Amino acid sequence: MVIYQGKAVFEGVAIGKLSVYKKSEQIVKREKITDVEAEIDRYTKARELSIKQLQDLYEKAVKEVGESGAEIFEAHQMMVDDGDYIDSVENIIRTQEVNAEYAVAETGDNFQKMFLDMEDEYFRGRAADIKDITERIISALSGAGDAGISSDEPVIVVADDLAPSETVQMDKDKILSFVTVHGSANSHTSILAKTMNIPAIIGCEIPLDDEMDGKMAVVDGFEGKVYVEPDEDVLEEKKKLLDKELEKKALLEQLKGKENVTLDGQHINIYANIGNTKDLALVLKNDAGGIGLFRSEFIYLGSDDYPTEEEQFAIYKQVAESMAGKKVIIRTLDIGADKQADYFNLPKEENPAMGMRAIRICLTQPEIFKTQLRAILRASAFGKISIMFPMIISVDEVKKIKTIVNEVKQELDSEGLKYDKDIELGIMIETPAAVMMAEELAEEVDFFSVGTNDLTQYTLAIDRQNQTLDDFYDSHHPGLMKMLKMIVDGAHKGGAWAGICGELGSDLTLTKEFLAMGYDELSVSPGRVLPLRKVVLETNVAEYKASKE
Ligand code: PEP
Ligand code: MG
Repeated sequence: MVIYQGKAVFEGVAIGKLSVYKKSEQIVKREKITDVEAEIDRYTKARELSIKQLQDLYEKAVKEVGESGAEIFEAHQMMVDDGDYIDSVENIIRTQEVNAEYAVAETGDNFQKMFLDMEDEYFRGRAADIKDITERIISALSGAGDAGISSDEPVIVVADDLAPSETVQMDKDKILSFVTVHGSANSHTSILAKTMNIPAIIGCEIPLDDEMDGKMAVVDGFEGKVYVEPDEDVLEEKKKLLDKELEKKALLEQLKGKENVTLDGQHINIYANIGNTKDLALVLKNDAGGIGLFRSEFIYLGSDDYPTEEEQFAIYKQVAESMAGKKVIIRTLDIGADKQADYFNLPKEENPAMGMRAIRICLTQPEIFKTQLRAILRASAFGKISIMFPMIISVDEVKKIKTIVNEVKQELDSEGLKYDKDIELGIMIETPAAVMMAEELAEEVDFFSVGTNDLTQYTLAIDRQNQTLDDFYDSHHPGLMKMLKMIVDGAHKGGAWAGICGELGSDLTLTKEFLAMGYDELSVSPGRVLPLRKVVLETNVAEYKASKE
């Protein structure tokens, strides 16, 4: 047995086999070869394998997301089989007498550049597809197989770190736990683990070699430990712990259907955060009162090109209909910083967290923004949707947003398309500037939702992605607590309601405090809804306030 220590970001126990996550990005070396024909033969076989993988992916996607969502894999098959691409690879192998991996990488680079140089935005977007298929062929050549999880049974995923664009592609039914060497406590991998209600450990120096793959292990998300090939005693002890966890979950089940009301009669809404439609089942299973944050950017991250109005409309409509009249707060795209999609072609920035992200992209590229707004507004005819805008810093921004929303509404009116005319508009409070302007901002909108993940990073000047700063990242910092009080007071004075949708909302040690501050809503990972309800039901707010005086 070998024990690896890391930092637990979500509690729980998982027992299963390890699966080392293979990045699709490969380092390719240029090597001289002697047998040109054999090398071309290797390339042909890798091409055939790639086409087969893409066909499998196509069939899987048709079942999961339908024909239109699966088309991309058909398009990729055509690209792998493209005559010009093949000629270029074979020519490089023949003339330079080099290995196929290098020839493919070189061709991929050249084709990407060619597409990026094109005027037409559609063709520029194709560069990301070239990158994708190039990496796929190189993986096939090096025998790395398809990126991601190769096992058929649920596994413990071990990785160096996981980008949101990688987690979005994973088959969630196959994941028992996440263990990463890097990554911070506030990264999207941790958020995903919380959504899925599975243990996660970061900062764990576990080797990522082939030998690890398939080994039996226990993840203890209370201690932050991974036991690889555990002894009998440890396995027994952890199995008992797992049983206890399941028992606790069963007890929480009994809270389903209960109102979120404190002992002294104060109500609070408990909603859930989601990243895509697959999370809907968890929202309903955990009896959330609504969706307090739909991170719509995951639609963009899971796509190779800008999702169309129709694609988005279908998704938002499905969410609205599934929630059957319960509130669904859709946050407009929050691309940038840690959530990058290649086809946005955003310039490299020194400091992306403080760069061109979220609403700033929407206000500089209103055509992208309007497509999303049209899709959301049209879906609002099918349920109770609210729209929320991220990363706001000023009243002026909100006014500009409202002008654009009104323009889109007028367009829909003139086309005779239906939408909810009284749709609620809200903003995220994620910057100190927005905190200071809370009252004025509240006069402009219907609601606030505090993004404590970003508000903490911008207030404490601590990059939420930087693992080495986790010890400084004090999520209970008194300065932040003062801000949270200012926000809710400002909201109420300005006539808006206020909630919290950042990770702090599910910190059960602060629930009493949030109730005492007067928050109207907390939106948390689906798995946290019932534990949070339990604390609300056990709280007496008046007593808590008196105990603080
Ligand atoms: C936040 O910043 O707290 C938030 C909810 O948004 P995200 O984590 O997606 O940046
Ligand atoms: Mg945020």
